[in-house]
Amino acid sequence: MKQLALATLALLSASCTTFNPPPQAPKLVVAIAIDQFSSDLFAQYRPTYVAGLKRLSNAIVFSAGYQAHATTETCPGHATLLTGARPARSGIVANEWYDQSVTRGNGDHKVYCAEDEAQPNTTANRYVVSTRHLKVPTLGDRMKRADARSRVVAVAGKDRSAVMMGGHTTDAMWYPGLDNRSYVSLPGQSGATPAIVTEVNQRIARIIATPPAPMVPPHCAVLADSFSPQPGSDLAKAINPERPNPLRVYRTGPEYDRATADIAIGLLKDMRLGHGPATDLLAISFAGTDNVGHSFGTNGIEMCIQQAALDRIIGDVLAALDANDAAYMVVLTADHGGFDLPERLQQRGIADAARVAPEISATAISTALVSRFRLDIEPRRLWMAVSQQGDWYLSSKISGELRSQVLAATRTMLLSSPQVAAVATAEELGSMPLPQPPVDNWSLIERARASFDASRSGDLLVMLKQSISPIARPIAGYAVGHGTPWDHDRRVPMLFWYPGAVAHEAARSVETVDILPTLAAFVGLAVPAGEIDGRCIDLDPGRADTCRQ
Ligand code: ZN
Repeated sequence: MKQLALATLALLSASCTTFNPPPQAPKLVVAIAIDQFSSDLFAQYRPTYVAGLKRLSNAIVFSAGYQAHATTETCPGHATLLTGARPARSGIVANEWYDQSVTRGNGDHKVYCAEDEAQPNTTANRYVVSTRHLKVPTLGDRMKRADARSRVVAVAGKDRSAVMMGGHTTDAMWYPGLDNRSYVSLPGQSGATPAIVTEVNQRIARIIATPPAPMVPPHCAVLADSFSPQPGSDLAKAINPERPNPLRVYRTGPEYDRATADIAIGLLKDMRLGHGPATDLLAISFAGTDNVGHSFGTNGIEMCIQQAALDRIIGDVLAALDANDAAYMVVLTADHGGFDLPERLQQRGIADAARVAPEISATAISTALVSRFRLDIEPRRLWMAVSQQGDWYLSSKISGELRSQVLAATRTMLLSSPQVAAVATAEELGSMPLPQPPVDNWSLIERARASFDASRSGDLLVMLKQSISPIARPIAGYAVGHGTPWDHDRRVPMLFWYPGAVAHEAARSVETVDILPTLAAFVGLAVPAGEIDGRCIDLDPGRADTCRQ
């Protein structure tokens, strides 16, 4: 009898498809990404929030979720948020990769994650935006497949962020065009330009012509003189240029995220999101924090001003959602974290903080190899790499035994550098199974495996040591970078809010790929476990299991 009861129970749990509905099923799901919003930034500025980020900080908080993969860049990171898929599954292995079957007009093989390289006369820098590289459906795609009446809207400060959060069937996608001065829509998107987009674009033109002075809260003002780069250094020129570029001033000021928010709020009202017959999705990605991080680092007055402004902007988004009078739920997270200027980190006691050495660039190593192996190839065409960390691609013209020798020699040269932590080969990553959660103790090679797609990844994946900044020489707008397999780049907050949510905070090992199944459960969407990497997070453990039984 007991055996029968157990068997029945097992059968029930295996076949049951009902949900314990949350207190109020949402009519609108809102997913907010803050580009480069690390768990470190969240921890540092959390006590200063007074508006939207304060409200979400007092909801359901996972302060240090994981972007579990190695190549922590914007495109792969955004692609995890609403697909449940790590880069190995989504195919979005980096912002840019090399595809030697594609040759652009300039002889280059570089492809951008959110472009259609089959379009004529394009390059990875001058491209047609497309969703074609994303190999998996997003939450929006799944919602529309389940009920075509669902509307999906994505508004972002970067095209790749809108594409990766919105997905293949987005109704309205808006992001800055290639000139960065005006918001444009995905090619082929139907309908007239909404009035709010026209209004914001006109405002941007005025802001670039006459930048307004940012509001400096008192807790930021004290940081004004806390760090000065060496006068005349590359860093000094990068962060305090003699003639600031007005477009860059706009992109690193509060008005950048304000523009994204205003378009999202405008579309919320125009389209009456949350008031249709099916649940709608609004995805928003704010890029200002990333622009500030790259331009000035993460620990200066600039980031303090940015955090205060973004807090107010997100407060305005939440106020508009409240006024919209439709039940909504929010998740807020990030595509990756970030790291401060190595020069400032050194001043603050991290003695081994440094910039990556030029001797281990793809160009320098290729030059040495061309000479050593007497290769008949231009050095810049031997090893192709966007950055010193991440994927390195060996020319397909090098084949057979020579290819093995060049690969082995390159690996030895890289590993002899005190700045290199590990080098994984495509061969070893391709033969490994996908790593399984929990991700806390994943090795560097397992993190690299989660970034590996045999059809797009490099022949080598290079991982620098933790305190090494991947930017060799700072330039204006790009003084410091992210993209490493280390926790400062991998750990991001994951905040959930919905009406009746019981506030709690848990140091659980959750990942951004868990967001898709978690939201899907709320809107009653079945997502077969084999299709994704994430696992549903039970957001209401004390009352009802919000995940599928
Ligand atoms: Zn990013």
